[in-house]
Amino acid sequence: MGIESLVRPEILNLKRYVTARQESATVRMNANELPWPSQSDSATVPLMPLNRYPEIRPQQLQEVLADYYGVPLKCLLATRGSSEAIDLLIRAFCQAGRDSIVVTPPTFSMYRVYADIQGAETLSAPMLPCNNFQLDVDALLATCKPGTKIIFICSPNNPTGHVTPAAQILEIARARREKSIVVVDEAYAEFSEAVSLCSSLEGFDNIVVLRTLSKALALAGARCGAVVGAAPLIGWLDAMLAPYALATPVIDSVLRAFTVENLRTSRDALAHIVRERERLRKALSSQSQVEHIWPSQTNFLLVRFRNLGRVVDQLRLQRILVRDFPHDTQLAECARITVGTPEENDLLIAALRDGGEVS
Ligand code: PMP
Repeated sequence: MGIESLVRPEILNLKRYVTARQESATVRMNANELPWPSQSDSATVPLMPLNRYPEIRPQQLQEVLADYYGVPLKCLLATRGSSEAIDLLIRAFCQAGRDSIVVTPPTFSMYRVYADIQGAETLSAPMLPCNNFQLDVDALLATCKPGTKIIFICSPNNPTGHVTPAAQILEIARARREKSIVVVDEAYAEFSEAVSLCSSLEGFDNIVVLRTLSKALALAGARCGAVVGAAPLIGWLDAMLAPYALATPVIDSVLRAFTVENLRTSRDALAHIVRERERLRKALSSQSQVEHIWPSQTNFLLVRFRNLGRVVDQLRLQRILVRDFPHDTQLAECARITVGTPEENDLLIAALRDGGEVS
């Protein structure tokens, strides 16, 4: 039976939208496009002109991503950021008013938002600060209801920065086989030394991995991510995703980012960010206003201050923004600080030091 029994029947039986055929070296008079490029094209010299629709699914881009993540092509779908993949998954599996998802707060809040939009209940299996935010697998499994279709595990987690061991994720996937899919959000995977769950997909048709180009690859503006999972599941999501979802300039810029030279540059940038993260941690940990800094395998640090309100005000004076969590009691007095350039990090360190001395 497998995961087929979990997906909404409407999605299983979905009749796909039939697009105008696309074949190379043909006269395209079937898609109501204009026959000549827009004037604005000449400014940027795009690889592909904009008067034509992009490929329904960009083949070369998906090949490049499958190769980069080390998965078969049929197991990957490129989406408009991993945000879109979260939305697709919830709509594919959760029936409104009946099904639920499980999240492990504090974590990325979009899982709940998309569940709310779909009318699916969100159940929480919290990761507690007193337990160093470690996942309690038994408590998570006890939280699941019969209609729990998706368990979201963000690893490395936003905003705590920690990795959930693969063994725990596999244990959950095993326990929930044929009951739930386990979505492992690896948005920050490149900043961590942990092995991607992409390498564990073979034995598990209920593990799905989300990746994004928005973080380590510095392409947040391109809006491109990928969902990786069992081929049938990818097929269902593919049927739901809008035709021509990725725009031509997006495809162009992503392909450019994956040349050998640009990949080398982005690997160097990544190493730089990790070094800066540890420099920032060291500098902040000696400051009197800082109470605790959690270990991080991401491009940010979660810091608990003695008086967050005052810190936020001090930083605002220097026009520095950090993320606070005013409605989350587990994260009281905490801020998530994204690692910046060395100059930006120095600015933050100085702003906190100077502010600390004033009082
Ligand atoms: N997952 C996590 C954990 C995130 O932090 C973010 C963005 N902050 C996303 C997914 C969505 O990223 P995008 O849509 O840009 O791929």
